[in-house]
Amino acid sequence: MTKKYVFAFEEGDWKNKKLLGGKGASLAQMTQLGLPVPPGFTITTEACRDFYAPRKEEIDKIVKELERNPPPQVRDELIKKIWDIINSLDLPEGLMDQVKEYMKKLEEKTGKKFGFPDNPLLVSVRSGAAVSMPGMMDTVLNLGLNDTVTPGLAKLAENEWFAYDAYRRFLAMFGRIVLEIPEEIFDKEFDKLDEEFRKEAEEKFKDEIEAVKKQFPKYTLRLDAQPPKEIAPKTWELAVKYLKKLVEIYKDVIQKHWGTFPQDPWKQLELAIKAVFRSWMNPRAIYYRIANNITPDIADCTAVNIVTMVFGNMGWDSGTGVYFTRDPATGENKPYGEFLPNAQGEDVVAGIRTPLHLDELKARMPKIYDQLIEAGKKLERLNKDVMDIEFTIERGKLYFLQNRRAKMTPVARVKTAVDMAKEGIITKEEAILKVSPDVVLKLLYPRIDPKAKAEPIAKGLPASPGAVSGQVVFHPDDAVEWARKGKKVILVRVETKPDDVHGFYAAVGILTSRGGMTSHAAVVARGIGKPAVVGAEAIKIDYEKKEFRVGDVVVKEGDWVTIDGNTGNVYVGKVPTVEPELIPELQELLSWADSVRKLGVRANADVPEDARIARKFGAEGIGLLRIERMFRKPERLEALRNVILSETKEERVEHLKKLAAMIKPDFKEMLKIMDGLPVVIRLIDPPLHEFLPAPEELLKEIYEAKVAYYTLKSSEAVKGIAPEILEEYEKKIAELEELYRRVMVLKEHNPMMGHRGVRVGVTYPEIYYYLTRAMVEAAAELLKEGYHPKLEIMIPQVSEVNEIKYVKQNAVLPAIQDVEKEYGIKVPVKIGTMVETVRACLTAEELAKEVDFFSFGTNDLTQATFSFSRDDVENKFLPQYLELEILKANPFQTLDTKGVGKLVAMATKAGKQANPELEVGICGEHGGDPASIEFLHQAGLDYVSASPFRIVVARLAAAHAAIKYGGKKE
Ligand code: PEP
Ligand code: MG
Repeated sequence: MTKKYVFAFEEGDWKNKKLLGGKGASLAQMTQLGLPVPPGFTITTEACRDFYAPRKEEIDKIVKELERNPPPQVRDELIKKIWDIINSLDLPEGLMDQVKEYMKKLEEKTGKKFGFPDNPLLVSVRSGAAVSMPGMMDTVLNLGLNDTVTPGLAKLAENEWFAYDAYRRFLAMFGRIVLEIPEEIFDKEFDKLDEEFRKEAEEKFKDEIEAVKKQFPKYTLRLDAQPPKEIAPKTWELAVKYLKKLVEIYKDVIQKHWGTFPQDPWKQLELAIKAVFRSWMNPRAIYYRIANNITPDIADCTAVNIVTMVFGNMGWDSGTGVYFTRDPATGENKPYGEFLPNAQGEDVVAGIRTPLHLDELKARMPKIYDQLIEAGKKLERLNKDVMDIEFTIERGKLYFLQNRRAKMTPVARVKTAVDMAKEGIITKEEAILKVSPDVVLKLLYPRIDPKAKAEPIAKGLPASPGAVSGQVVFHPDDAVEWARKGKKVILVRVETKPDDVHGFYAAVGILTSRGGMTSHAAVVARGIGKPAVVGAEAIKIDYEKKEFRVGDVVVKEGDWVTIDGNTGNVYVGKVPTVEPELIPELQELLSWADSVRKLGVRANADVPEDARIARKFGAEGIGLLRIERMFRKPERLEALRNVILSETKEERVEHLKKLAAMIKPDFKEMLKIMDGLPVVIRLIDPPLHEFLPAPEELLKEIYEAKVAYYTLKSSEAVKGIAPEILEEYEKKIAELEELYRRVMVLKEHNPMMGHRGVRVGVTYPEIYYYLTRAMVEAAAELLKEGYHPKLEIMIPQVSEVNEIKYVKQNAVLPAIQDVEKEYGIKVPVKIGTMVETVRACLTAEELAKEVDFFSFGTNDLTQATFSFSRDDVENKFLPQYLELEILKANPFQTLDTKGVGKLVAMATKAGKQANPELEVGICGEHGGDPASIEFLHQAGLDYVSASPFRIVVARLAAAHAAIKYGGKKE
């Protein structure tokens, strides 16, 4: 028995998007809800998979090649290869029999007949995968028209213009999508006739055109917009004549490029189904899937929906539009949408005509508007999300063509989630889960600095938020080329088509001169989180000259511009931007997240600016303060160098005292900013030579000093004149040589595994003693001033418990005791260790008994576990490892749960068993990565510590983990 490949909208399970595709499922849902949907059926994604099955392996191999982002010529060759393979495939056995059976049912339902002129059934053939891929795959409309059906349709509709317009649209669409004839050929023919038509009409029927304009001020004369027959009958007649002519020309085009146009509707249908299956492998669809990480477990092949045609271009009581149940840009709970009277769907989506606001529909057809809104609310409650609904009105009757979850800006995503929870549509936990941590990161987009005195040269629609500067390019391929060279580009287009999508990914921002908020450019840019300004109509683009003009201003390829996707403004040059504030809805969502998460969230912050941002974003303390960054000021570096280069303990202590005095105020400030919250300060960690000049540099300096010295010495002119100058040179050379000698003594073959961290503390306990003193003194002074410092001192690079015991005994504890004695005050201090060597993990039980806290340094731990040099691998072999899928993710970004994670989980458990009071955190980069946070929650850590801008991400990710895996805040 053959498989069941076809489901009517009444019978399909609308919850099964994987089988029916998103569009098919939504049509089934709306039909079963009793909403007016044109009758139809869905061919399943399984049929599409079976279509590809015979050559799947070969195709998959080529797609893998494409994933490597080859240069354009290679890419085009590969795409052609895929295409040739697909064109040799046949539809799965039995599929067309089932389609025919369901077409018969459709005929019964509609009372129309496929291919019969008297009452013809016309259908659309629509793609639709399990997840929405807007504009990436193909759809054919008006299928079933031919030379005999078209006059029949004209008679039935009592409108010849409408019938021939539908026929010419069908021929062009069928020619392009199904027969693969380049679109430009049809466009060129259209433009030619359109111009002739306008010229002739303007010459002959000027009065009529003016009369129309009086009544419809927005009307423009064009061949693809029906002139109102009552006011302009002659213009209308002329348009029909031209459309008929265009139909003949299009058929000739098809004849020339493919063969005779198939008049048989069944043949049309079969070819169209195949073409929609094929469109799953469109280059743009392939790239969209790669960029959005749509793997086969998320969506595997497209379904095909055969839907009875309804017409939005049947006159001024018809129209088409899209309706978002809430504003997808701001999230405001207000119907948002666009509507175009007397037009067919693709006009809106392609941005060819600038549509009217939905309010216009309310004014013109209030009943239909109410019906639309009511259905939208129903779908929103049922699907628990903001919906994006496509509709058509045919002669005063509303039809729903699709509903899907709306793609929104990050602001809107957050606001609608919070609002819907408050309205009781979803729970607070569902609201938290609706906002992915990465979306929140996007909310922290920069804005134009309000203090910048830049004047915009143009304004368009703020289609996707964020302000960004880049160099102008006009072609998507150029965007890719320039980006490969490391340039930041803004892709500037009149309007964009799905074929441009590779350019979107390469660009940092998108600017178009035409199109609305739901145009392709806007939808895709929002989806991938790229700033975009669309419909900036003042911009006149000249692709040939590679420039655009706004009045007298000319911007050429390569010039810098700044676009502001928050306001729609366009600026020439680079305009400064500022960091964002948290919007109130996000604060509210985060407060819900805080109440469910179990993991604490601290910040990695070394300087006051970072600490302030971190506190503003909700950090519950500092999880890692690397004191090395405090040594960047020249006088401090100098002091530290003296410490390192000292030959005796006395000398070293001398310099240490100075150094400690310099950094104490910084410790004080950091503890003050985080008053009442824990601050983990790490004792010095990096290899000491990092603070000294490089040997090559020193040799160069020595050489140059010597050359200068000997030149002077041998110069007759200087002889006997200035011996002190020569002496100075001698002194300098001697110093440099001594420095070089010390640097060479300290030089190590493998500094990352060398004399660093606690090993420095063991060999020079005075260094740890004075650094500890500086911290404890800072805390003691704050205590006296009435603050509440919570100092936590951390010992890095430990691999053996005796190291901890030794530095505690010989440096850290004496320092604390001495300060307490001198200040006459008890300073509460916790002492902990970083766990960043494998041996530390393996001996966690012993370490835990000696300390108050652990903090996993997963940067070093990853390095040690893989034996991957963290400074080298990321631009050596790691990219290839990822490409070959030897590793699934970069282990320095996302915690390797199998290896490193296993050590973390094991050490946490052992540590807590040995010391129930032990507090366990993480301060490696993984602390800000959502996938790693999910694991760390399960491993039983107490907190994560992340860079300041990742705090918000971490708060949300920790809540996601708690909701998914349970565990309450204590
Ligand atoms: C670590 O190793 O994970 C860590 C936080 O320390 P650093 O990156 O300074 O070595
Ligand atoms: Mg480290």
